Amino acid sequence: MQRLTDDTVRNHPDFDNHMMVIHITRERFGLEGIIAIHDTTFGDATGGTRFWPYTSVYAALNDVLPLSRDMTYKSVTANVPWGGAKSVLIGDAEKDKTEDMVRAYAYCIEKLRGLFNTGEDMGFHVPDVDIMAEITKHVFGRSVKEYKDGIVGGGDPSLSTKHGVLCGIQVVLEFLYGDKSFRGKSFCVQGVGATGLPIAKALSEGGGTVFISDMSQRAIDNAVKNINAPIIVVPPGIAHKVSCDVFVPCAGGRVINEKTVDEFDCRAIAGSANCIFTKSTAPSADYLHAIRNILVAPAYVINGGGLIHIYHEKIGFNAAAVRRDVEKIRDRLIHIFKESALLGKPPYKISDEIVERKLHEEESRHMKL
Ligand code: NAD
Repeated sequence: MQRLTDDTVRNHPDFDNHMMVIHITRERFGLEGIIAIHDTTFGDATGGTRFWPYTSVYAALNDVLPLSRDMTYKSVTANVPWGGAKSVLIGDAEKDKTEDMVRAYAYCIEKLRGLFNTGEDMGFHVPDVDIMAEITKHVFGRSVKEYKDGIVGGGDPSLSTKHGVLCGIQVVLEFLYGDKSFRGKSFCVQGVGATGLPIAKALSEGGGTVFISDMSQRAIDNAVKNINAPIIVVPPGIAHKVSCDVFVPCAGGRVINEKTVDEFDCRAIAGSANCIFTKSTAPSADYLHAIRNILVAPAYVINGGGLIHIYHEKIGFNAAAVRRDVEKIRDRLIHIFKESALLGKPPYKISDEIVERKLHEEESRHMKL
């Protein structure tokens, strides 16, 4: 087993003064992963668990460092009083994930005694969270029922993520064309899993021309079965090159990079995927803004619906209140796009500055207490 060293973490280009990085292993259960706690200025660290076939622990580190940083930014943006963190587990969700492994993981989370709270992400879904909830109360996104610890589950947060992303895509369309309707517009959805499938379905059933792609044939078959409108399937490697109004990334991160920046053939990029570029690859986003004139919705702003959903699970779940809070994503994006146009800065710089100002103010408040 490879060991993570302090130098490897600190010298990583996406290291952002993370508070703590924990390499977890339980060999007996085939469990290996990394929990990265980025910041706890506003509260206990919270972030989903991703189950992914990383080729090494370093590949897992590449993902968890920017993902945990973006969770801090997402919570601050959504006014959720939590800190940012993320967990990534190494393995193929379809082949390697077992109930015993999920239980062993839940036990690790319980032993952290609330330092890290988690829920679903790619490859890790509500049934896994339900298993964890039998062992630890530090999980969110449970099925709808009352659990032993008194928490009432709010159900699948992906549906709130979907709702927020669709609100965000409407803002993008309004901004580009003065018309928020999906009808007559074209979209390419990369990844049709828990979030991408309902997004593709709504876009297509709302009158849009929709292309979809997924690495998993099972996911494609499921999408074709569930979407009651014409869709066009494209191979995963070319999804970002499809000529369309909005490219909708709903899979892994880093889709905006040095190689892809000249290949996009869209007017905007807006989807559920986290970390579509990272701190270290931000020059690619600058290039899209300045040279390609492609509008990019900051990922942690547009995909905050799931976080808002699980926060409501903690404060007492009320579906109408969740919907109302998720729809605030609209006003946040309108503000960011307007400021971006006014100041000539990429949208992500506007949203980063808002978050960093709030973090700074809160830290100063702590120091005075
Ligand atoms: P998921 O595992 O349910 O679905 C992801 C799908 O993408 C899978 O079907 C997978 O096969 C496919 N995929 C992976 N890499 C691909 C590629 N290169 N090309 C095409 N398809 C690919 O995951 P999800 O919950 O829908 O999450 C998708 C993204 O949205 C992730 O980045 C996640 O972090 C982010 N996100 C999810 C939520 C949520 O509520 N689930 C909330 C916020 C952000």
